[in-house]
Amino acid sequence: MSPQQTLQNTFGFREFREPQQQIIETLIAGQDCFVLMPTGGGKSLCYQIPALHRQGVAIVVSPLISLMKDQVDALNANGVSAACYNSSLAAQEARDVLSQLHRQQLDLLYVAPERLLSPDFLERLHDIKIALIAVDEAHCVSQWGHDFRPEYVQLGQLRDQFPDTPMIALTATADMQTRQDIVERLRLHHARKFISSFDRPNIRYTVVDKQKPIVQLEQFLDQHRNEAGIVYALSRKRVEEIAAKLVDRGIVAAAYHAGLPDRQRHEVQEAFLRDDIQVVVATVAFGMGIDKSNVRFVVHYDLPKNIESYYQETGRAGRDGLPAEALLLFGYGDIAIARGLIEKGGNPDQVRIELHKLNAMVSYAEPLTCRRRALLGYFGETLDHDCGNCDLCLNPPERYNATEDAQKVLSCVYRVGQRFGAKHVIDVLRGSSGQRVLDLGHDKLSTYGIGADQSSDVWGGLIRQLVHLGYLYQDVANYSVIKLTELSRTVLTGQQELTLARPRLKAVTKKPVRKRAMDLDYNEDLFEVLRQRRKEIADEQGVPPFVVFS
Ligand code: ADP
Ligand code: MG
Repeated sequence: MSPQQTLQNTFGFREFREPQQQIIETLIAGQDCFVLMPTGGGKSLCYQIPALHRQGVAIVVSPLISLMKDQVDALNANGVSAACYNSSLAAQEARDVLSQLHRQQLDLLYVAPERLLSPDFLERLHDIKIALIAVDEAHCVSQWGHDFRPEYVQLGQLRDQFPDTPMIALTATADMQTRQDIVERLRLHHARKFISSFDRPNIRYTVVDKQKPIVQLEQFLDQHRNEAGIVYALSRKRVEEIAAKLVDRGIVAAAYHAGLPDRQRHEVQEAFLRDDIQVVVATVAFGMGIDKSNVRFVVHYDLPKNIESYYQETGRAGRDGLPAEALLLFGYGDIAIARGLIEKGGNPDQVRIELHKLNAMVSYAEPLTCRRRALLGYFGETLDHDCGNCDLCLNPPERYNATEDAQKVLSCVYRVGQRFGAKHVIDVLRGSSGQRVLDLGHDKLSTYGIGADQSSDVWGGLIRQLVHLGYLYQDVANYSVIKLTELSRTVLTGQQELTLARPRLKAVTKKPVRKRAMDLDYNEDLFEVLRQRRKEIADEQGVPPFVVFS
């Protein structure tokens, strides 16, 4: 039987989606694969079908018990012999699973990482034939990912322990650093890489100023009556308050967060899937593995901590390909809250990286670049046109021919050796006589002072656009150092003209700068700048900025 026939006969689907077939064939042929595919893209089949085409049992590592159970149920319903092995099993059930395993009766076994890595279990695996090893939600292995799980780290040893078994790592969430980290940690250096486009053309991204959030939310919901959606909020308490308010308004809404009893959470999830609940108000605990195709909107009531989480969460909308909305209520107070949460936990390195990621999230909210281009740019994917659908495309900022300004920035980045953050690049451009510039001898560079005619804020706005559009790369894991990209050359050599939004920012009155242990670079002031910019727009247009609900 061919994989194509298995797709039809066992899973009941007519054709493969891009690039399922290639992945399946690669894995069947015994080669490692690294798969980056958006949520809902169809990653599971990429290892489930090879599991049926290779001898032995496929071992699938998955982080959540509920995820495993859903998948195993679905497989069993299709007549596939699959089971899971995790802490939710009673002793007798666990023994049954192991005996099935030893009798080679299973095609797939879903295992929690800590179970898999116990010496006892590994020993068992060496006694039987293994078809393949799949690591699902592989970003959990990376500290840079948004959902790090320490028990995933040890999975690196699998590649050495089972040298002849093909491995596949799958994730929907990977910026450049996380991507590299997964390959490193799982030792998949020879894996064939399948990177799908992250573009979700049917989702409209909108960012609005958070003013009276509950009113804004209710107005939004008025326009989405009877449509299913998710509202993400930061804290459990807020989730419950919002849900209660919506219920008061006659909306069929329910709260979901990790503090609720399992049973209740399960009921909410099931009712949502059945369309018995219209709106789930939830913390980030809600979502992984929720396979509901007709989610019409995802609202972020509070600022997500990073773009990965934001994109993953908004990606739960519109899986059926029909138009869907992603609305972010962006409030300045939320930045401080997010920052506080980040600074509370983790080791200093991780805190630093997370703060840089938060900055990237904040600069996404800046009203300069097509949202879709900015989002995709963050994942290293360049879109060569504006999407025409996001709030900024529908209500574009003023633009100008920024080729010359961009050339100044890019050449300055080059001159300082691509080893500094934006703040330093701006200091050199503007001819700052700051100590650091002088110490480094950067006042001798040919680009020193070539941008003295414009404020730091303007340069900051231009640099952020160049990053969003892929003309610069900002390494958030490495002090947000700014580097050139392949696209930079086309601008530097004059092959390409650039049109950018004009960041017309007045100088922000500087508060005394608190010296921070963590150098957050120029974005320290970005929040102020944004506030100012929005006020300006409001003054000019005589309306509150970015209120789309008029
Ligand atoms: P991911 O893990 O990438 O988020 P899933 O593997 O859960 O995605 O698949 C998402 C949905 O798409 C599931 O309902 C699945 O049955 C469906 N699906 C996957 N591949 C195909 C296909 N080739 N044709 C039709 N539906 C598919
Ligand atoms: Mg999946």
